[in-house]
Amino acid sequence: MFSSYYDMVIMRSITPNLAECCAYMMNELGRDSRRNTPIINAGAGADEHPTQALLDIYTIERAMSFFSPKDSSQGTLYEKFRGQYPDLTKGLDGKTIGFCGDIRRGRTVRSLITLLAKYKNVKLYFITANHEMLALSTDMKARLLKQFAEVREFESFEDDLDGQPVINSLDCLYMTRIQKEHNPDNLDEDFSQIDFSKYKLTRERVAAMREYAVILHPFPRDSDFGEIPTEIDNDKRAHYFRQARNGMWARAALISHIFDVDGSVADFYDAYTFDKKDYNESALG
Ligand code: ASP
Repeated sequence: MFSSYYDMVIMRSITPNLAECCAYMMNELGRDSRRNTPIINAGAGADEHPTQALLDIYTIERAMSFFSPKDSSQGTLYEKFRGQYPDLTKGLDGKTIGFCGDIRRGRTVRSLITLLAKYKNVKLYFITANHEMLALSTDMKARLLKQFAEVREFESFEDDLDGQPVINSLDCLYMTRIQKEHNPDNLDEDFSQIDFSKYKLTRERVAAMREYAVILHPFPRDSDFGEIPTEIDNDKRAHYFRQARNGMWARAALISHIFDVDGSVADFYDAYTFDKKDYNESALG
C-alpha cells in the first residue's frame, strides 16, 4: 500500500528498527521489479535519528570552518582566536565534543556520535549521571572505540580534565533533555537520588567555555527541567536556533537528493546567484 500511494515515506516511530525493516522490505520489492518507495528514518524509538545527525554535523562543521560571520559571530576572527587558543584548527578533526544529559536514550546522540567518530582524533566526552538509564551504553562505547574515537565519561561539567574543569576544554557541547517518555513506571525513586542540577547550563558554566565553542540542542528543550535556561539564548555560543533552521535545509537537501533533483537545484542556485541584478547600486551609495 505504501509503495502504491506514496512517493516517499518519512517514518517516525517508537519502534526502534521499524524504518530500517521497511527499507529492507522496499529493497526486496525493488529486486523483484516491483514499485518501491524511499523510506526516511525520522527518529526511531531510543535508537537512531539519522537526519538529525546530518543537520547536527552540518551545523558543527560550518561553525568550525569559521568562514562566515553568519556561522559564528567570531567567524572572521579565526586568527585572533588562534592567539587565544593555539590548538584551534578549522574543521572537525581533533575536536572535543561534549554530550550532556540523556546519553543512553537520546537517539540523536547515538546517530551523531557514529558520524563524529569517522573524523580524525575526535574526542567524545559524555557528561551525565552514572545511571544505567542515562550513561553511555556498552554497545555504543564499543562501537566508538572500534572507530578509534577517544571516549571519556564524566559526572559533572566541573570534573577534572588535566587540571581544569572538563567544560573548559569543549569545542562543542551537545545538550539533551531527559527522555522521560522512556522511563519505566517504577523509575522515579531511582532518579530522585541524582543531582540533576549538575546537568543544566548556567551563565557561569557557559562563561567558562571557550569563546568560540558551540552549544547545540536537538530540541525541544524541557522548560520544566531547564537543561538550557532561556537566559543563555543570547550568548554567542548558543547555536541551537541556527541548528534547528539547518534542519530544514538538511532535510530539503536529502529529499532533493532522493528525488534526484539536487543537480537541478544546484544549477538553479548558480544561475540565480550569478545573474547580475540591477539594484541601482550607485543610488544606494
Ligand atoms: N527532537 C529530537 C528527537 O526526535 C530530540 C528529542 O526529542 O529530545 O529525538
